[in-house]
Amino acid sequence: MADTREYDVVVIGAGLGGLLSAAQFLRRGQRVAIVERLAHPGGRFTAKTFHGAQVSTGAVHMLPFGTNGELAAMLRALGVPHHIHDSEVFASFHARGRQYVCRSVLQLAGVLGPRQFAEFVRLGGAMLLRQPLPEERDQTYREWLDRRISRGASPELYAYFERVCHFALSVDLDDVLYPEIVETTKNMFRYGAPGIVDGGCAALTGELERRVVEGGADLRLQHDVIAIEQADGAVSGVRVRAKPTGDEVLLRAPMVISNIGPWATRRLVAVPEGAAVATSTGALAAWDRIPLPSGERDSLSETDRPTPHAVASGLKVHLLSDESIIPHRGIMYCLDTERIAGVVQPSNSDRRLAPPGKHLLITHQLMRGEDVNIEREAARADLRRLFGDDFGTKVTILTMSQYRGEWPVNRAMQGEDVSPATGVAGLYLVGDAVKPSGYLMVEGVAQSVNALLDTLDGPTVPAPHTPPKPPRRRAFRWLVAPPPPHPGS
Ligand SMILES: Cc1cc2nc3c(=O)[nH]c(=O)nc-3n(C[C@H](O)[C@H](O)[C@H](O)COP(=O)(O)OP(=O)(O)OC[C@H]3O[C@@H](n4cnc5c(N)ncnc54)[C@H](O)[C@@H]3O)c2cc1C
Repeated sequence: MADTREYDVVVIGAGLGGLLSAAQFLRRGQRVAIVERLAHPGGRFTAKTFHGAQVSTGAVHMLPFGTNGELAAMLRALGVPHHIHDSEVFASFHARGRQYVCRSVLQLAGVLGPRQFAEFVRLGGAMLLRQPLPEERDQTYREWLDRRISRGASPELYAYFERVCHFALSVDLDDVLYPEIVETTKNMFRYGAPGIVDGGCAALTGELERRVVEGGADLRLQHDVIAIEQADGAVSGVRVRAKPTGDEVLLRAPMVISNIGPWATRRLVAVPEGAAVATSTGALAAWDRIPLPSGERDSLSETDRPTPHAVASGLKVHLLSDESIIPHRGIMYCLDTERIAGVVQPSNSDRRLAPPGKHLLITHQLMRGEDVNIEREAARADLRRLFGDDFGTKVTILTMSQYRGEWPVNRAMQGEDVSPATGVAGLYLVGDAVKPSGYLMVEGVAQSVNALLDTLDGPTVPAPHTPPKPPRRRAFRWLVAPPPPHPGS
């Protein structure tokens, strides 16, 4: 019989969502176990040292809403030491073969020219100053955009909307609804500039790891959760296999928090007939319609097949450069490339992310098809376009990796997320498939933990854990420069 241990909460997966959840439950005085199949915690938000550079397992070391964001707020509340270098510009743009640095939104006029900038103001006003009209609520972002501008007549403007969507959400314009873009864009302007974590994402999840271990959590690395156990219609614990020895242990707990996405969770639990999971819009979706990694879609029968495009996939390139390419903290969006949506130079924020004398650059692009070689070749062609003769000499590729299937950019496409509660009593979900509307990437992960706490505590607590959004007027600061950090940051 398997060895048995007792806890109040078992967390499956030591990604950011799992670590944040564990820290929250430890703060409540609960006995917590965290089970992670890899030899290190952090999931897609950590890094390894490779040729002297911090090569990340996923994220480009960036917090989408920087110091003002919900992840930063949660780290402050948990007392986790960290420092974020916010972007000091709106963004820069690579267009017509050169780079334009825009400190404010108004400076986009120099990139777009007067006619396209006037269109930008008109579309931006429609997006940000009113709610989506009834006929816009079911439109994809592509449908909405194509009714207003054309790529042929407004190439830079069209590329602007497309590349921000590709870089920030890793989805194409056809795969996200217009109202979700409105919510996300409003949040991007309200919260403020994105930021790079000092020390990179490994420093952040490393601090969280220290915090949970010092707080008494039983962190089991190289342990695979192989089943979620139930008794009397509720969760009773998880069955775990130690990868080095094959030994099995039963970790008993009345609450299990899964950080591995709804589909992988579903595979571990025998779901009662008709059980449902709540979507972020409050609707109920049957477990068998929850997002499924693309790699697994083909193995299912026609009737089992969930919605297509279930996870967000992408391709990321780490480069080392002899010279600085991007003269600021923040994102350079690429409006004149075929695939690469944007580039960051995280070593501008922390020199230690690159080896001495070098600069670390990270590009990100959407995967447009299943053929990895085509995607990689498209990336190389874009790198030649961006760097000319310097590519391969002064700017060299360190790694090139695709993210999809079980290791995607996002376990649920933006706007197709689920809620923390499942149809199984005591079983909850956190992570980047549980993002509330308008919250992207790790900001969504932090908000998923807030949503979990709200779900558990119910309406009785004096204030919800999910904080209100910053006031709308903050968004107008972007007209002149990035908004300053919140007081108290
Ligand atoms: C290319 C790329 C670029 C990105 N850029 C950014 C960015 O710049 N900024 C940003 O905010 N976000 C970015 N993201 C997204 C961000 O990395 C994720 O949103 C975030 O890391 C997800 O955290 P998570 O805790 O939800 O999941 P994960 O990090 O995936 O954690 C889940 C953990 O569960 C473990 N696990 C899985 N199955 C089991 C099992 N059966 N038993 C035990 N353990 C298990 C996994 O090994 C993993 O460690 C990027 C992602 C990618 C791929």
